[in-house]
Amino acid sequence: MTSHMDQTLRPGLYIVATPIGNLGDITLRAIEVLRGVSVIACEDSRITGKLLNHLQISKRMIRYDDHASERDRNALIERMHSEAVALVSDAGTPLVSDPGFRLVKAAREAGVEITSLPGPAAAIVALTLSGLPSDRFLFAGFLPNKAKARGDALIDLADVPATLVFYETAPRIVDALRAVAQFLPGREVAVARELTKKFEECRSGDPLDIAGHYESHPAKGEIVLMVGPPVAKTLSEADVDALLRNELASLKPSQAAAKVARETGIDRKVLYTKALSLK
Ligand code: SAM
Repeated sequence: MTSHMDQTLRPGLYIVATPIGNLGDITLRAIEVLRGVSVIACEDSRITGKLLNHLQISKRMIRYDDHASERDRNALIERMHSEAVALVSDAGTPLVSDPGFRLVKAAREAGVEITSLPGPAAAIVALTLSGLPSDRFLFAGFLPNKAKARGDALIDLADVPATLVFYETAPRIVDALRAVAQFLPGREVAVARELTKKFEECRSGDPLDIAGHYESHPAKGEIVLMVGPPVAKTLSEADVDALLRNELASLKPSQAAAKVARETGIDRKVLYTKALSLK
C-alpha cells in the first residue's frame, strides 16, 4: 500500500473530519490523508472500517477515546514524532462532542506537529439551515439527561445573547423542547434532523408546537436543537434612555448605540439618534 502520499506526509497528528451521514461529504484532502497516514486513531474500528472500506483504503486502526489510559495516549503521541497519525471520530469533526481534546492537548505539549482538516460538523450544518441568527452562536453540546440538571443548564445559558446550539437524541427531543419552553420562554427554536441524509428536515417555530409534532410523529435519527437569542424585552422609553446614558459615560454615541442595539434588538440607527439627543 505504498503510494506517493506515504512518502510525503510529514510525521504528526492529522485531525480529519468525516461525513455525518452522506458519504459524498468526504473531502479530497481527507481521502489523501487517510490514505497517507500510517495509522488511524478512531472511536470504533467497525464504524471507521466501513468508511475506509467505502474509500478502498486499508489501514491499521487504533481505538482511542478520551478515557484511554495515559500510557495508551503517550504511545500514540510517541508515534506522532516519527509517523503521520490521523484522528477521526465516528462521524463529523473530532473533538466536537467527540473524543480528541486530551490527545490534542498532550500532542501540543509534546511539540507534535498538528493540522486539522475541515469537514462536516452537525452543529454548523444545522445552524445554516435553521433561519435563526447565525452571527453569534454558542455550541453547548448535549444537555444533561436529568430534568433538574437540564433546567439548571438552560437557566445558566438564558442571558447569553446568541443562538444556542445543542446536540440531542430522538428519545429526548420532546422533553428537551418542553424544558426550553419552560426555562427560556418566548424564544424561537429550530430542530434539524438527519442532516445530509435522505430524510433530512428542519422545523422551526414555537417549542411547544414542535414538541407536539414529535409527540404524534416520534422523531427518529440524529438531532440538533437550536434556540434563538433572547428576544428584546419590552423596554420603556425610559429604560432605553437609561441603558444608553449608562453606555454614553464611557462610549461614543455610535458605539453606545451599537452596544445597546446588540443587547436589546432595537434598531441601531434609532438608538444613535436618541444617543445624540441625550449627549
Ligand atoms: N462530531 C460530530 C459533529 O461534528 O457533528 C458530533 C458527534 S456527537 C457524539 C453526535 C450528535 O451529533 C448526535 O446526537 C446529533 O445531535 C449530532 N449529529 C450528528 N450527525 C447528525 C446528523 N446527520 N443530523 C443531525 N444531527 C447530527
